[in-house]
Amino acid sequence: MTNSAAKNRLAHAYLFGGPAEIGKKTLALEFAKWLLCAKIKLHPDSSLNGGTGEEKFACGQCRSCQDIAKNQHPDVFVLQPRQEEKRGVIKTLEIGIDEIKTLRHQISLFPYSASHKIAVIDQAEWLTREAANSFLKTLEEPSGKSLIILVSPAWQTLLPTIVSRCQLIRFSAVPEKEIFDKLSKEAKNIKVLNRIVKLSAGRPGRALNLLREAGSLETLQQNIEIFKKILKSDLAARFEVAQRLSQNSSLAQENLSQWLLWLRDKILENNACQDLAIKIDGVSESTLNYPQKNLINSMREIQKTKVILDNPSFNARLALEVLMMKI
Ligand SMILES: [Zn+2]
Repeated sequence: MTNSAAKNRLAHAYLFGGPAEIGKKTLALEFAKWLLCAKIKLHPDSSLNGGTGEEKFACGQCRSCQDIAKNQHPDVFVLQPRQEEKRGVIKTLEIGIDEIKTLRHQISLFPYSASHKIAVIDQAEWLTREAANSFLKTLEEPSGKSLIILVSPAWQTLLPTIVSRCQLIRFSAVPEKEIFDKLSKEAKNIKVLNRIVKLSAGRPGRALNLLREAGSLETLQQNIEIFKKILKSDLAARFEVAQRLSQNSSLAQENLSQWLLWLRDKILENNACQDLAIKIDGVSESTLNYPQKNLINSMREIQKTKVILDNPSFNARLALEVLMMKI
């Protein structure tokens, strides 16, 4: 993208697709900083600033970079689904037509202080059908100075007409060593960092959260214990867990991801491949209790449920209850 920008050949719209917490939104904002940074000379014939034209990163210091970091830049707009808490239930609200209309108006205007107007829509799968159709018009008739970046872990669920009008950039897992090296300055305990890097499964954002949020490793351990209990519980107890998880979709997704990692560990242990296991569960125990066939079946069902939970039009509680019956 930096090369395209330097050649003045930037696409009007990009779609960043790939797993959650891998750095898609971070990179979208970093690119916005880079594009608008006062210290970067984008075109060799421009003498507006002191850059050399070869900078790969924004300075992070100038007014523009700082305003973007604080989400206060007059030409950069970030839209994402809001979360609402009602009687203890945390619900993610879809991005509606009114929010999209406001955004479309904002990016149709001439830039206030920068070369471009930039819109980042995070978790774009939460656009309502109506909002997505409205936004399609902006993608079909882009204004010369606007840049749109859609970010989505579930981009396959977006309208095909939206996907086809964006340049798709797929994000994949970051090598463990890269995450380890980046975080080694911040981590106090190398053993803990090693575990965190393994647990993050190539997602730098996940690794950062595990490192910075106190108690996150303990919570993870508790989630695994819950899953092990579920496997031995009757349906009533399982439905209670389904009901609790359905109240917070991001919590449900996180639990399911961790259960998948535990199942993967058990399958590897069953097949004498312990070295490849993440060892998400600090407890070592006999895997005889977990027949391979059941483990694989559970993995499949959890993966299916994760896809369903990504789609806001499905009933989360129902999907989780079905999962509880199948694992
Ligand atoms: Zn800057």
